[in-house]
Amino acid sequence: MIKLNRTPKPAELTSELQDTLTAEFKLTGKSVWNFDFIKKGLLGFSNDKCCYCEANINEESKYLEVEHFHHKDEYKDEVLEWDNLLPSCKKCNGTKNNHDTKLEPIIDPSKIDPKNHLKYWRYRIKGSDDIGKLTVSVLNLNEQDRLVKKRFEIGNAIQEKLEQLNELTDDYINGIQKNTRRKNRIVNGTKGLMKEGLPSAIYSATSATVILTDLEYDKLKNKLISLNLWDMELIQLEIDLNKTAFKLEK
Ligand SMILES: [Zn+2]
Repeated sequence: MIKLNRTPKPAELTSELQDTLTAEFKLTGKSVWNFDFIKKGLLGFSNDKCCYCEANINEESKYLEVEHFHHKDEYKDEVLEWDNLLPSCKKCNGTKNNHDTKLEPIIDPSKIDPKNHLKYWRYRIKGSDDIGKLTVSVLNLNEQDRLVKKRFEIGNAIQEKLEQLNELTDDYINGIQKNTRRKNRIVNGTKGLMKEGLPSAIYSATSATVILTDLEYDKLKNKLISLNLWDMELIQLEIDLNKTAFKLEK
């Protein structure tokens, strides 16, 4: 889960339409939020990801559900309030179900930065305060098969890539492969890896956390600095990754 910057509500969602459809919902309970312009607007500010678990939900929109942060049955007036709508995968939406977010607040990632309330340890997310703990529990953010295993696979692949990049760099330093082609492979490989932790990438909080907290990353960074290869793009990538990465539990 990462902080999302909500974009303004779609122009198609005029106040008149919102009033008409909200009245219709109150009367009939019909799904008045299933419009392409609403889904497109939500996917736009979440980079096509579930706002809670960061899985991709753009596959023909079949996994996307319009999530009402404050539950629509309890808070009917907000059924089409743009600020109350989030893009969620079926699984997270179903797990959160009819939890009352006003009585027992959890993190709305479009309003609260999750990393101020969540921390990370061995592919599990933990709350660092009450709202963080309740968020983990209500959304079941440590669901083993779907989330923890996925985080492990991602983390393991990242660690492997970091080890490979260190080996390539060692060969370069030792003069075994000291050529431009090798240099480019190291620098571009490092950049490509770090881009997996940018907000636009799936499971970016996991990737950013694993990259920045791995000892192999520190080693690689120090070697590239000593070779004058740690350029402005890498500096900026590290700044960006720090925005999404969780703190480790101590
Ligand atoms: Zn999800």
